[in-house]
Amino acid sequence: MKIFFFICLVFTSQIAFSQSVWQSKSSGWLLISPDQRKECFALNENLKNYLNKARNELTSTKEVLSLAKAKGFKEFTEPSQVKPGAKLWINNRDRAVALVVVGSNPIVAGSRVIAAHHDSPRIDIKARPLYDASGYAMLQTIIYGGIKKYQWANVPLMIIGRVDTKDGKTIEVAIGDDADEPVLIIPDAAPHVDAPLRNRTYTGVFDGEELDPIIGSIPQAKGNIANQIMAILTEQFGISEEDFVSAELNLVPATSPRDVGLDKGLTAAYGQDDRLCSFVAVNSILELSGQPTFTSIAYLTDNEETGSINNTGAQSSFLSGLYGRLTEAQLDAKYNDNETRKALHNAHVISADVNDGISPLFPSLSEPSNAARLGFGVAIKRYGRSFDANSEFTALIRKILDDNSIPWQTASYKVESGGGGTIGGFMSKEDMEVIDIGIPILSMHSTYEISSKVDVWNLSRFFTAFYVSGK
Ligand SMILES: [Zn+2]
Repeated sequence: MKIFFFICLVFTSQIAFSQSVWQSKSSGWLLISPDQRKECFALNENLKNYLNKARNELTSTKEVLSLAKAKGFKEFTEPSQVKPGAKLWINNRDRAVALVVVGSNPIVAGSRVIAAHHDSPRIDIKARPLYDASGYAMLQTIIYGGIKKYQWANVPLMIIGRVDTKDGKTIEVAIGDDADEPVLIIPDAAPHVDAPLRNRTYTGVFDGEELDPIIGSIPQAKGNIANQIMAILTEQFGISEEDFVSAELNLVPATSPRDVGLDKGLTAAYGQDDRLCSFVAVNSILELSGQPTFTSIAYLTDNEETGSINNTGAQSSFLSGLYGRLTEAQLDAKYNDNETRKALHNAHVISADVNDGISPLFPSLSEPSNAARLGFGVAIKRYGRSFDANSEFTALIRKILDDNSIPWQTASYKVESGGGGTIGGFMSKEDMEVIDIGIPILSMHSTYEISSKVDVWNLSRFFTAFYVSGK
């Protein structure tokens, strides 16, 4: 009886006088000092500069390698390079990249990996793209990743990518990235004439085959406009029409990152999913001071938005191959494959990817008590599609966050609202200890995604703390 009374007292007093721990969490903006705020804005300027150059996995790899070389990282070519404190880069076919800082402990004893993907949803150009329609030259396209098709109409688009020719040349293509260069546009129908289209559904405002941009319009006395456009491409890049077959050409927004809001607390940019986490993972490893106890790796992968399938995607054996090379370099004659497996088993991995934040316009699409809010810090993703970290690794991550006073929250989808996966499951399959972590963004997978600057700063603090975690 007494015990019952005591429990009732505690229970009712909690209801009456305190709010839940989750309700009492503050926005990250309320937790930073004026100096930290300056640091936060400076970091986001660097993020914007990177996003302005890194428009796809190819340009991201190039930018990451140039940042790494400027910080003294060297290409990993020889086992003798694997010494404590060594800073190494490994370029996987110009589309995936790893940066390694070798720790004082052998890699078999443990390592710290932050893995992100630096491809983003976009529109790709087909192998036989050029055609004439109603007095225009147009491009046939195909969708890459999960886009909302209507968002890509009337947006200035650049062409970016590479063409590989039979004689072994690689031609880099970038049309529309400078303000004085032309852009391509997918033209929508005017409201004056679109009555026959008005009953289209939300997902079918455009059909996939209607996402073709205009690439030319000046008629010729002889031949069609598409042929004339091909002549311009041949003159500018030295390519022939069949070269499109061995090309990877992407249409991406030709917009630059911008601040959002009069207080400049948010950043809008194309491709923040997931070049935001990619940049922060890279920046944190580049800025590591001293020699970490455990080997730190930033690993950027390609093809996530289409299933991580290719040899540059997270399902490839590139990462386990790299572990093999690092382990063999450290063990020399004592090396065997089981040691690589042990190194993978002892690795701690952050699968870093952005989450969907609660929208001010569509809050009902989130279950508010378990969804992430912009500004409220690093988000531990629970119950993502097909992969979830175990509870003991999650507890260890909570400790790193709390020990470093980093604001954090959780992110879970509203049941039966949709969902999305990450690359975490592919590394978990390699027997690594993996958790999904990111920060929330708005307008995810759109042509202009929105992030909170204070979240980017807190993510960076967490990544640094994670790389040097453990004794
Ligand atoms: Zn992503």
